[in-house]
Amino acid sequence: AVALYIVPTPIGNLGDISSRAIDVLNNVKLIACEDTRHSGILLSHFGIETRKTALHDHNERDRADWIIQKLSNGEPVALISDAGTPLISDPGYHLVSQVRAAGYKVIPLPGACAAITALSASGLPSDRFTFEGFLPSKEKGRIDKLTELKEDPRTLIFYESPHRIIPSLESILVALGEDREIVMAREMTKTFETFLCGTVKEVLEQVKADPNQQKGEIVLMCHGYRLNDEEGIPTVVISTLKLLCEELP
Ligand code: SAM
Repeated sequence: AVALYIVPTPIGNLGDISSRAIDVLNNVKLIACEDTRHSGILLSHFGIETRKTALHDHNERDRADWIIQKLSNGEPVALISDAGTPLISDPGYHLVSQVRAAGYKVIPLPGACAAITALSASGLPSDRFTFEGFLPSKEKGRIDKLTELKEDPRTLIFYESPHRIIPSLESILVALGEDREIVMAREMTKTFETFLCGTVKEVLEQVKADPNQQKGEIVLMCHGYRLNDEEGIPTVVISTLKLLCEELP
């Protein structure tokens, strides 16, 4: 069918591509890739010879018109990103909204997404969560963002780059407190996949002590704000009592 297909690609292990994804990528007339060279390696691994075009943050709005033109000529198009699900901290939002506005079908394929993969194995509550993408690169921005999320009861999910993992953990410690439970998922589906679990203080110490933990691709997850402690006492009551204790003679 003439449509824009949204096709997830693996986040590490090439075995995670679906057979439907391969069929779609073989049968569309054009694949819009975040980086044609990067995706070229993946596509040639699967013997896919479909024509490629670059669609990244800088040309997405202009390229959308051209892709809509292709659809109007009856040519189906697929969108992929470097890894995982397009649009999730990756380009594609402007394209999808413009294709829909132009009246064409957008067909999503389910597949790899680092945030969901990490959450599913984290052991943190998964009934409610909020995906926040990358934390701001400057400390002030990070602290402001985290302060905004401090009392959010949902599990918080962030993407992180290895060179910013220590500063980000430090900001989480400052803004959410050293006892907040966190999980750091690193290099998922790859050889050195690791999950570190504990309080922010514990995980930060482990990451600082082991340079290997400062490499690769990382998803950080924080337990949501607890309304009650384990005995059912509201957290605000406990923090107020702590403050009072400090002030009392
Ligand atoms: N669209 C992708 C998705 O669906 O997950 C995410 C793209 S975003 C530009 C890249 C970030 O995703 C990395 O910095 C890291 O936070 C996370 N990520 C991607 N692959 C990962 C992996 N194998 N293990 C852990 N995190 C990963």
